[in-house]
Amino acid sequence: MVKHSSRIELKKSAYKNNINFIRKKIGEHAILSSVVKANAYGHGINTFVPMAEACGIHHFSVASSFEAEEVLKACKKETHIMIMGILYEEDIPWAVSHDIEFFVYNYDRLPKVLEAAKKLGKPAKVHIEVETGANRTGMKKSEFPKTLTFLKKNKEHVVFEGLCTHFGGAESRSNDFKIEMQHKRYKEFLKQCKEKKIIPNLRHIACSASALAMPDTVYDLVRIGVAQYGFWPSPEIYYTHLNEINKKADSALKRIFTWKTDIMDIRDVQQGEFIGYGTAFQATHKMTIAVMPLGYSNGYPRALSNRGHVLIDGKKAPIVGLINMNLFMVDISHIKNAKVGDEVVLIGRQNNNVINVSSFTNSTQLLNNEMLSRLPAVIPRTVVK
Ligand SMILES: *Cc1c(COP(=O)(O)O)cnc(C)c1O
Repeated sequence: MVKHSSRIELKKSAYKNNINFIRKKIGEHAILSSVVKANAYGHGINTFVPMAEACGIHHFSVASSFEAEEVLKACKKETHIMIMGILYEEDIPWAVSHDIEFFVYNYDRLPKVLEAAKKLGKPAKVHIEVETGANRTGMKKSEFPKTLTFLKKNKEHVVFEGLCTHFGGAESRSNDFKIEMQHKRYKEFLKQCKEKKIIPNLRHIACSASALAMPDTVYDLVRIGVAQYGFWPSPEIYYTHLNEINKKADSALKRIFTWKTDIMDIRDVQQGEFIGYGTAFQATHKMTIAVMPLGYSNGYPRALSNRGHVLIDGKKAPIVGLINMNLFMVDISHIKNAKVGDEVVLIGRQNNNVINVSSFTNSTQLLNNEMLSRLPAVIPRTVVK
């Protein structure tokens, strides 16, 4: 197979470590649903899903039917898939026929789900998402009583698999009052279920931040995105954890992701010469530079022009000049052993040095999630031990 200009490695032992840590936090009973929207936060659904399954995950959450299909192609038969976001009406029969569960946040959707389930002779599994204060998707309070009546009446065809909501901003402690209000409103919905004696199979409201820092938000299932990939949802959630364990630092969550390429070419540049396009970088002395075979079209942010670093031979090599569409240059004057074909680390660890996603995002103003999720799906991903 021809080689791509960069590659991403997923470290299985680090993932296993993260899952064990999250499991300890949430207790033994809750289902840990691995959120793999946005191509598994850039880690690559096709590679990530089988690795997660091998680490004991059997429930995945996605944002669209398109992503659900990606998971379906990669997962085991018995694995559960849940769509939290967009499911077009014309795709409802597809979802039902493949046992894919999905959020319902409008009463109007239910008769359509019923029709599909009846036609296919197969029950549909729905998670009723309720509005508690995030004001994005979520069923209004006023539609809830008739929803319960509907679910009770049609329970052979439309299974009340879940009652859920999503917190808007649980990673920031300054939002605690809002999260608490959302939780309180969620409990009011639950109370109505009990009163009408129509009980969801699974109650779920927690994302990474609340699952790690607010134990009372852990019900029957938790939807874990960012933490499983080895990132604390925010510094505040990390400090909450440090307080709990009474330590000054902790490496409980480990990055599983390394982004690599190779040196494409090496050349000397005389003092006064410009490097790459325009005049963005002028050599201040005789320099040795290495050419990288990727650029902004491959997901490497152009904002790192003249400011980012890569790792070569365990040392930091600063970027010189602009990030081009599919090339950029780094200064290796201080790395005497470097040769064409040597491995380059773009994000991750090499010997004793590390380039974190955050060192990218500090200068680009991107969120960690944003940076990762934008990495092109065509970059090959592989699992390493
Ligand atoms: C993205 C998402 C999650 C996961 O959030 P993290 O903070 O990454 O754990 C959970 N629930 C819903 C509805 C989401 O959209």
